[in-house]
Amino acid sequence: MDFRFTPEEETFRTEVKTFLKTELTPGWDEQFDTETEMGVVAQGDFAKQFNRKLSERHWLALPWPPEYGGLGATVMQQVIFNEEMAYTGAPTGFNMGVAWVGPSLMIYGTDEQKQEFLPRITNLEHIWCTLYSEPSAGSDLASLQTRAVRDGDEWVINGQKIWTSGAHRSNWGWLAARTDPSAPKHKGLSMFLVPMDAPGITIQPLINMAGQHGFNEVFFEDVRIPAKYLVGQENMGWYQLAVALDFERSSIAGSARARRIWEELLRCARENPSFVEERPEIRYRLAEVGIEIDIAKYLSYRVASLQQAGKIPNYEATIAKLYSSELGQRLAGTGIQLLGLYGQLHPKSRQVRLRGWMERYYQMSVAETIAGGTSEVMRGVAAIRGLGLPRG
Ligand SMILES: Cc1cc2nc3c(=O)[nH]c(=O)nc-3n(C[C@H](O)[C@H](O)[C@H](O)COP(=O)(O)OP(=O)(O)OC[C@H]3O[C@@H](n4cnc5c(N)ncnc54)[C@H](O)[C@@H]3O)c2cc1C
Repeated sequence: MDFRFTPEEETFRTEVKTFLKTELTPGWDEQFDTETEMGVVAQGDFAKQFNRKLSERHWLALPWPPEYGGLGATVMQQVIFNEEMAYTGAPTGFNMGVAWVGPSLMIYGTDEQKQEFLPRITNLEHIWCTLYSEPSAGSDLASLQTRAVRDGDEWVINGQKIWTSGAHRSNWGWLAARTDPSAPKHKGLSMFLVPMDAPGITIQPLINMAGQHGFNEVFFEDVRIPAKYLVGQENMGWYQLAVALDFERSSIAGSARARRIWEELLRCARENPSFVEERPEIRYRLAEVGIEIDIAKYLSYRVASLQQAGKIPNYEATIAKLYSSELGQRLAGTGIQLLGLYGQLHPKSRQVRLRGWMERYYQMSVAETIAGGTSEVMRGVAAIRGLGLPRG
C-alpha cells in the first residue's frame, strides 16, 4: 500500500484540525468534574452541542449519501476524521446508529424505514444502542435466546440482553432475536428496530470496575412492536449482521488516542526527571510503546487502504483491533509504572499527576480487549483465516 495521503485528503485533515482547534479550546475538558453527577451532565450537554455542530457539517456520518445527512466521503477521509477526533479526545462517543444501524438499513431496509430512520440518525434525534449480547451468548452470539414471535401486525419480544452500552441514553435499540427456534442456530435469527420506551422494557444499570455507568441489562417482557420494524428478511439476521463490515474497520482511533496519552507521559517524564532517572526499564518501555503506536497506526492504514481499494478486509481488521486494544493496556501499564505510586491516585486526589488520567485509563482499558470481540476470539480468527491453521 501507499502510506501517503493525497493533497485533497491532506486538505481535509487541515480542515478537521482547524475545526477542532476552534471548537475545543485548551482546557475545554478540564471544566467538568466527571466524578460528580452534575459534572457528568454538564459534560454530556457539551458533547451534545459539539455533535450537533458535526451534524450541521454533515460530518457525523461522512460516507453516507448527502440525502441522508452524509458527505459521500471516502474511506480515507473517514480514517483521517476518526484519527483527528481520537487524538484530540473530542467528545464524539461511539455512534452505533452511524456505525451499523444506518449501513444495514441502506442495504436491507424498506424505503419507509430509510426515510423514517436515516435522517434521524444524522440529525441526532435518534440515539441507538445495540442489543446483541445475552448472559449466555457473547462470543458465541448465534446461540442467543431472546425470542420474537409474530402476532398479527406485531412482533412480541421476550428475553434478556446484557452489556448494552448506553441503553439508558438511547431512544432506539438495534435488536437481534430468535424467530425460528427449530432452525440451526445461525439460521433462525432476525433483526429489529425497537423503541426503547416500549412498554415491557426494563433497563437495569451495570456499573463497571472504574465505577462508571456505561452499560446495562435490558429485560423484555411481552414487548410489542409493529411488524414493520423487522429489518430485511425474517430468519436471515445473522447474514445481515455482516454488513457492519462495510463500515470503516481500521481501529485507527485506538492508536491515535494512545499517541496522545504517550505524548502526555513523555511530557510528564521530562518535567519530572526523578520518574525516569536511574530507571532504564521505564525509558526503554516508553520508547518501545512509541514504536508499537506506529505499528498499530500502520496496521490500521493497511485495513483502510484495502477498503479504499474496494476490498473487504478480513483477518487484517481482526489483527488491527487485537493489536490496538492490547496496546492500550500495555500503554496504561507503562503509564502506571512511570508514575509509581502517583499512578494509582484517583483524579480527585490532591497529589494527582496528569489529572488522574492513568488510573482511569488503566481501568477502562481492560474492557477494550473484550468489547467488539475478545482477544482470544480475535487470535482464533487470525490463526484460521490469516495463517490457514485448522480449527481448534
Ligand atoms: C465495554 C463493553 C461494551 C459492550 N457493549 C455492548 C453492547 O453495546 N451491546 C452488546 O450486545 N454487547 C456489548 N458488549 C458485550 C461484548 O460484545 C461481549 O462481552 C463479548 O462479545 C464477549 O462475550 P462474553 O462477555 O459473553 O464472554 P464469553 O464469550 O463468555 O467469553 C468468556 C471467555 O471465554 C473466551 N472465549 C469464548 N469463546 C472463545 C473461543 N471460541 N476461543 C477462545 N476463547 C474463547 C473469551 O475470550 C473470554 O475470555 C460490551 C462489552 C464491553 C466490555
